[in-house]
Amino acid sequence: MSKLLSERILNMSTSATLAMAAKARELKSEGQDIIGLSLGEPDFNTPDFIKEAAKEAIDQNYNSYSPVDGYGDLKTAIINKFKRDNNLEYKPSQIVVSTGAKQSLANVAMAVINPGDEVILPAPYWVSYSEIVKLAEGIPVEVATTIENDFKMTPDQLEAAITPKTKMLWYSSPCNPSGSVYSKEELEALAAVLRKHPGIIVVSDEIYEHINFSGGHFSMASCEGMYDRTVTVNGVSKAFAMTGWRIGYIGAPEYLARACNKIQGQITSGANCIAQRATIAALEAPVSKIGYMIEKFHERRDLVLGLLGEIPGMKLNVPEGAFYVFPDISDFFGKTIKGKTINNATDLSMLLLEEAHVATVTGEAFGNPNCIRISYAASEAELKEAIKRIKDVLTA
Ligand code: PMP
Ligand code: GLU
Repeated sequence: MSKLLSERILNMSTSATLAMAAKARELKSEGQDIIGLSLGEPDFNTPDFIKEAAKEAIDQNYNSYSPVDGYGDLKTAIINKFKRDNNLEYKPSQIVVSTGAKQSLANVAMAVINPGDEVILPAPYWVSYSEIVKLAEGIPVEVATTIENDFKMTPDQLEAAITPKTKMLWYSSPCNPSGSVYSKEELEALAAVLRKHPGIIVVSDEIYEHINFSGGHFSMASCEGMYDRTVTVNGVSKAFAMTGWRIGYIGAPEYLARACNKIQGQITSGANCIAQRATIAALEAPVSKIGYMIEKFHERRDLVLGLLGEIPGMKLNVPEGAFYVFPDISDFFGKTIKGKTINNATDLSMLLLEEAHVATVTGEAFGNPNCIRISYAASEAELKEAIKRIKDVLTA
């Protein structure tokens, strides 16, 4: 019967992050002692001041459809946030609130990509980028980065990847899965290349903006000549521990925001009204209110890097943001561990699930077949136990 499905869906891969999380949940429900480090999801509760705003919204009878692109006062909060944190000035007509940054990305893809258009993805990239691009009938063009360069694309690599068919560049900083943060100078250097190619639109995914230990976040839209062709994507899932509330947003050139609004109006309408009201509280609060979570992530990053560094064969960069480590585990390829031959990152990730009972995600899903992704959005006790188990299996 699957033959009845569209080619579009048959050509699409299932989200590897969500698939691994589902597999870990299934094994747990069967009674196995699985430590889930596959899903990129904070283990904190949503802060009380945000929950209170949602409760008030329910009591104030926020139960009707909101404007498709979001409540006016939420857009004001987003505009103020862009000004405060990113030095970017937007008008309300340039803001679209969506059901998660994932929908924001899908809207932009549908609005910009024509069949056969190329979209440059510095690899490793977040798992859904390539599939959303393909869904919009675009062609993902992967640019492989190296651990030696902290998994960042150089201006020369960008220049070499551009063809007459290049329509977009998509990247995240801080990066999921590598944790890399592009500095102001690095983004300026990429912008200098892009200025020579005015037809390329950039998606700058800044959803991990506040989970940044390098001290500096910089937005591509604030580089010279980039404002009118950059879509800045952000959301509350990560920094505010609101993954399930499903609110993301963009700041974009007006024509593009209007196009996203048009698509969303036919597909989902406005995002959940209670979650939108809660997001106003989140964005209006000083960033220091979520500082306790960022500090914890920082401590855990150091803990995890230290412990993984003790395992021979793990090569690591120092992630400056997000909550993932992305070790290069290619030293294990060709080895047989616990009777299983490891030929690639997927084999190693499966070995860790089956033998160490630790769920990770294969780097293949992120466009890098030499690495695995480990989320450290988990308690210190879980992280210590998980890495001990990984070490026991890999050094057996
Ligand atoms: N971009 C990146 C880089 C992500 O890691 C995620 C995580 N889900 C998203 C976008 C989407 O976030 P959400 O839909 O939860 O807002
Ligand atoms: N962004 C998170 C991750 O990469 C959540 C899962 C998803 O949306 O794919 O794990």
